[in-house]
Amino acid sequence: MNVKEITNILKFSSKNNIDLINRAYNFNQKAHKGQKRMSGEPYFVHPFEAAKKVAQWKLDALSVVAALLHDVVEDTKYTIDDIKKEFGEEVAFLVDGVTKLGRFKYRGAQQKAENLRKMILAISQDIRVIIIKLADRLHNMKTLSAILPNKQKRIALETTEIYAPLAYRLGMQVVAGELEDLAFPYIHPQEYKWLIQNIKEKYEERHQYAEKVKPIIKKAIEEGGIKPIKIDSRAKRWSSLYKKLLRHDMDINQVYDLVALRIIVRTIEDCYAVLGIIHNLWPPLPGRIKDYIALPKPNGYRSLHTVVFCLNDRPTEIQIRTMEMHEEAENGIAAHWAYHQAKTSRTFLKDKSPTVFAEKKELAWVQQLRSWQKEHLDSEGFISSLKVDFFKDRIFAITPHGEVVDLPVGATPVDFAYNIHSEIGDQCVGAKVNDKIATLDYNLRSGDVVEILVQKNKKPSESWLSFVKTSIAKRRIRLAIKGKSTRLIRKGPSQVEFKIIAEDRTGLLKDISVIFSRSRINITKTTANFEEKNRGRFPIIKIRCEIDNKEKIDKLILKLKGVKGVKEISYKLVN
Ligand code: MN
Repeated sequence: MNVKEITNILKFSSKNNIDLINRAYNFNQKAHKGQKRMSGEPYFVHPFEAAKKVAQWKLDALSVVAALLHDVVEDTKYTIDDIKKEFGEEVAFLVDGVTKLGRFKYRGAQQKAENLRKMILAISQDIRVIIIKLADRLHNMKTLSAILPNKQKRIALETTEIYAPLAYRLGMQVVAGELEDLAFPYIHPQEYKWLIQNIKEKYEERHQYAEKVKPIIKKAIEEGGIKPIKIDSRAKRWSSLYKKLLRHDMDINQVYDLVALRIIVRTIEDCYAVLGIIHNLWPPLPGRIKDYIALPKPNGYRSLHTVVFCLNDRPTEIQIRTMEMHEEAENGIAAHWAYHQAKTSRTFLKDKSPTVFAEKKELAWVQQLRSWQKEHLDSEGFISSLKVDFFKDRIFAITPHGEVVDLPVGATPVDFAYNIHSEIGDQCVGAKVNDKIATLDYNLRSGDVVEILVQKNKKPSESWLSFVKTSIAKRRIRLAIKGKSTRLIRKGPSQVEFKIIAEDRTGLLKDISVIFSRSRINITKTTANFEEKNRGRFPIIKIRCEIDNKEKIDKLILKLKGVKGVKEISYKLVN
């Protein structure tokens, strides 16, 4: 193990960056000195391997530094402040993100995997944090055999359910596939054994077959006037082969892409030309031609696929793509990063204000991510597009057991307590946030680990109503103090509906929503009627929310009047 293995990959980095990596390498060794992994090797090998991966994915130097330091805060005496002092704010930010991700645990079906994936994005705030985490997980999976069997299964499950899909949606197909393959034997040990016994020979035989087909394709393409960059064959991964076999009664002869041929050419025109040449050579299997260039997959994957009756009439899958598509397909977002890194002079954006606001909860989040990237090809925009702000109005806090609690922005430990269980809420006397005592009205943030301190027979306090944010907390508190004070109930929060008439423009809804979220008011419902526009009138936007006093309403109206295009505002109480 040598730092050169990393710096050689980044040989075009500035001298400053190389120095920084050297320092981080030494710091990693010093911090983890004497610690051992379960496998018996020195601990610092693990961050080193993760950092090497991050470098191979061509992420920026600071991400490599953060990968070298990613376990320092969790596992050594050094703190995040030490890292900030030694390596600067941006590295500390990345390390902090990875540390937070390490705190939650996926325990299977009782948790919704999709929510956890969203939470991971929300906690990360920056796609680089997730990519570093993927490198971390990849090495952990490679060394999984060394840890206790009951832990193995949980980690393998978390890998297939959470991290592999995240990698896949970031377009990092190679990592996604690798993670799934590494997890597969732990999750399906029997099936894995079956595959090894039954498929291995087939694999080898198909590889030899592919080797025979290659020169025939090469010759035909070249005769057609096209010079292929390369032609290779790829074997289908265990995990995806298994899924496919399940759909085909475990009949291996139904799987045409056990070994697929892949042709890489220079241009998109060449892709289609090659498809024509192949179909001229061997007849295609009807219904198996797929044009993912014209219609990319949701994760951005582009390629042409076809299955032809190849040599000896054997159905064989052939994939055709350009080099750029190939790199994107292999490394996804990381490939984008590499493309833009060169022309990017980077400054760390301290401003965490929302760059994009999600108007629809059900948005396909990574599709969104991709389209932002296309919109923000300039350097600064590109960096900010890697900031994950689309769950701006939600935070995700974690119990000491790794359970995730989804809360609105501004939620407090009391909200957290009531969301776990009403009794815990009622008996709550204090809270620890990330191991430190916090006040009950503390504003929680994504990734906070919250421990609620309880006392038997304790009753909730009226004063909590002035700061709790969730309706479940409000309801329970009112219920518990009922009889003691009926006055307060009438004074409590009410549903208010605002009617806003405004000139339509892009970003209007976003600007309006931001005012609500900055005022720490939760929107419960938004309806916008843009049809009015077609009748020559201004659109009407109706927003419902919960507000507990008149003063807040007046302030809100003042702020809303300041939004560009807003013509008229009124409100009414609804209940
Ligand atoms: Mn680690």
